Amino acid sequence: MITLKQALQLDEAALQTLKAQIRENVQQSNLNAYIGDIVDTGTGIPILIKDNINVKNQPLTCASNILKGYVAPYNATVIDRLAAHKMNVFGRANMDEFAMGSTTESSCYGKTLNPKALDRVPGGSSGGSAAAVAGGLAVAALGSDTGGSIRQPAGFCGCVGLKPTYGRVSRYGLVAYASSLDQIGPITQNVTDAAILLDCISGHDPKDSTSANLSPTQTYANLNAKRTCTIAILPDLLKDASSEIQQSYDETIALLQKLGHTIVEKTMLDTAYHISAYYVLCTAEASANLSRFDGIRYGNRIDAKQLKDVYIQTRTQGFGEEVKRRILLGSFVLSSGYYDAYYLKAQKVRHLIKNQFDSILHDAELILCPVAPTLPPKFGASASPLEMYLGDIYTISVNLAGLPAICVPVGEKNNLPIGMQLIGKHFDEQCLLDVALGIESALA
Ligand code: GLN
Repeated sequence: MITLKQALQLDEAALQTLKAQIRENVQQSNLNAYIGDIVDTGTGIPILIKDNINVKNQPLTCASNILKGYVAPYNATVIDRLAAHKMNVFGRANMDEFAMGSTTESSCYGKTLNPKALDRVPGGSSGGSAAAVAGGLAVAALGSDTGGSIRQPAGFCGCVGLKPTYGRVSRYGLVAYASSLDQIGPITQNVTDAAILLDCISGHDPKDSTSANLSPTQTYANLNAKRTCTIAILPDLLKDASSEIQQSYDETIALLQKLGHTIVEKTMLDTAYHISAYYVLCTAEASANLSRFDGIRYGNRIDAKQLKDVYIQTRTQGFGEEVKRRILLGSFVLSSGYYDAYYLKAQKVRHLIKNQFDSILHDAELILCPVAPTLPPKFGASASPLEMYLGDIYTISVNLAGLPAICVPVGEKNNLPIGMQLIGKHFDEQCLLDVALGIESALA
């Protein structure tokens, strides 16, 4: 598949040929990365969009039965920004239902396969976006990242995934999962394309009150693969990782040293609380955000005689298992009597996590960390939801602190891709992209 940078050179006729080719590839593919009929909103470079981003007059389901039949009445800001840069929506990507998950197995359209190993998960929740980019079915894609959903599938499929700083990219038109954590970002074939896409979609948006009052980034024009900086490593955190990931981490450190970076060892305290704090906060926010899906305002409705039964039937039949679990958990931690014990405590832990990152990033420009503790697992491998949650250990704290992070492929073990993560200071995506490009170029 040609890259986004190459596609920018094509004329409209060549782009039409490209789209015809993608259409054919998608029809022949067994990955299940695209869902529904192929959406094509017009001229320009085709970009695959995760099914939780509103595209005017197109279906939007968040891979949930509850939203079947819903048609988006407006464009998300990122969609308008793509169009302004001659990029257009081409296709909707499969995902975990309402972006809750790490495997794309919870989609109402069925699972997406990992193009690098068909018996393994592509990661999640933006698994469709990553599988399509890695499987030659998309030039580039947009995903969303609440606790790793851009970086982890990018890592499992061998692509680049960038989670921008919270506030860098408008969330207007992104269906909210956990509003204080969600960010839209690119999943691409390489680092340069991620920079190009970030520059297109970033910048202040008056329609999103959490959007930072900053101009769009200009990372592509300023890319510098030769940049060197101080990078913190967190050896203590690696005890949770498999031997393959540990080995790959050491190799990446060696590569960074060879490239002229200074490595400093740091410790992150109390990481045992990261998963708990994240799942308390994200479920609390999700329970509030998903209360709007009641059968009255959006999508699917199960009719009944009593209004209450309309709500109950619609939500019982419309939501899948994982979504229900999280609504229940979230309602519990917010309920009076338990609010202080769970929600308030988790907010305090969030504050501590942010402080720890601040102190590490005071002495270093970047932090190197794995994306996931294991290689991509086989389908159905998590024995319990809790086990799946534990796999998010390296990604979720970044969202809790609102920091930017990029997943860059660093090679393979057992023929499976491995991604490493660089975490940066607030609004310093440039540094992430520069160092990631240095890694990518050295490994090419
Ligand atoms: N796996 C995490 C979760 O299930 C992250 C999901 C995401 O980033 N959307 O919440």
